Amino acid sequence: MNMEKKPAIQDYTREELAQLIKPAFRAKQIYSWLYHKYVTSFDEMKNLPHSLREELKEKYRIEILKMIKKEKSRDGSIKYLFELEDGNTVETVLLLMKKKEFNEDGSVKHQERYTVCISCQVGCKVGCSFCLTAKSGFIANLTAGEIVEQIRYIKRDNNIDANRRVNIVYMGMGEPLDNLNAVSKSSRIFADPDGMAIAPHRQTISTSGLSTKIVKLGKMNLGVNLAISLHAVDDELRERLMPINKAYNIKSIIDAVKEFPVNNRKRVMFEYLVIKDVNDDIASAKKLLSLLNGIKSKVNLIYFNPHGGTEYKRPNEKDMLAFQEYLTKHGLHCTIRESKGLDISAACGQLRDNELEDNRCL
Ligand code: SAH
Ligand code: SF4
Repeated sequence: MNMEKKPAIQDYTREELAQLIKPAFRAKQIYSWLYHKYVTSFDEMKNLPHSLREELKEKYRIEILKMIKKEKSRDGSIKYLFELEDGNTVETVLLLMKKKEFNEDGSVKHQERYTVCISCQVGCKVGCSFCLTAKSGFIANLTAGEIVEQIRYIKRDNNIDANRRVNIVYMGMGEPLDNLNAVSKSSRIFADPDGMAIAPHRQTISTSGLSTKIVKLGKMNLGVNLAISLHAVDDELRERLMPINKAYNIKSIIDAVKEFPVNNRKRVMFEYLVIKDVNDDIASAKKLLSLLNGIKSKVNLIYFNPHGGTEYKRPNEKDMLAFQEYLTKHGLHCTIRESKGLDISAACGQLRDNELEDNRCL
């Protein structure tokens, strides 16, 4: 960070703020203004003494993301393009899922369920061959505050009440475990009961499988859900799809997952990107089943989302369903991920930090 620049207030946990700002109960008030009322200036923090507001203004920044584009999909998903203060851009996606809910009289009402897909890096070092984010290479890590602000911004922009449940998936741009300090800190800030109170079991960190970092994350005991981007069942194919597999092979990932603390009611999610004629055969489903034997796991099959930078193709629905059926028939929980926001390139693997025409998939 530029030394002359003031730090962002969103970079701090409540405990840290209580150390910095006296009396300590002010930290709780500031958290409430930031994460319940989503204020964009210190002047709005009305119950703070004038002198403290002035001090805060002098020491910290609060508006750290500039929205430069917002696109709404036909299915209601909204993709935001944010500019960071260094001029780099990242994307964040608000996904709306319909969930069946019941009124007190037993009648059915539908309520939207919010999931926000956040970015943690500008670009990515991992370089998966199917991923659009990888094409820009690695540019920068986001700070904890920049990660936190993505959710705060979107909650404010969509008038999402502080009490409404929101799920977070670290599945936007970047590899979360390659920016573990900022990511784990953001997770703690999200979970703070005096702030956004997004419980750890509503947060999912998705990784390409940096085994040693999976162990490290596990030891932090954050209580978050883990998702592994597996995508292939043998090392040779996985190396072709994800060169990182040379450093962290499938066995090392499975071993790390076995050590990971999993909430009693939860399972580790294995994401399997299904690519036509590459890994969509039943023999692969069979191997996947035996690989996950003995692990509390569930599988999320993802349709490969085509984009201009790749030769890979989207699988046929028939093959996808047969793959799923094979796994469920053998007792594995397996879902197919809905491709949200396809028409605005907001779906998995279609996020990148600029607006190239070739990122259109339709
Ligand atoms: N770096 C992390 C998280 C971000 S990617 C990871 O790789 O897990 C989020 C998910 O989107 C990953 O499972 C990734 O493999 C998947 N993905 C990447 N490119 C995709 C594409 N073109 N179509 C569908 N999913 C893709
Ligand atoms: Fe990075 Fe994930 Fe894309 Fe791989 S899939 S290049 S790890 S963002």
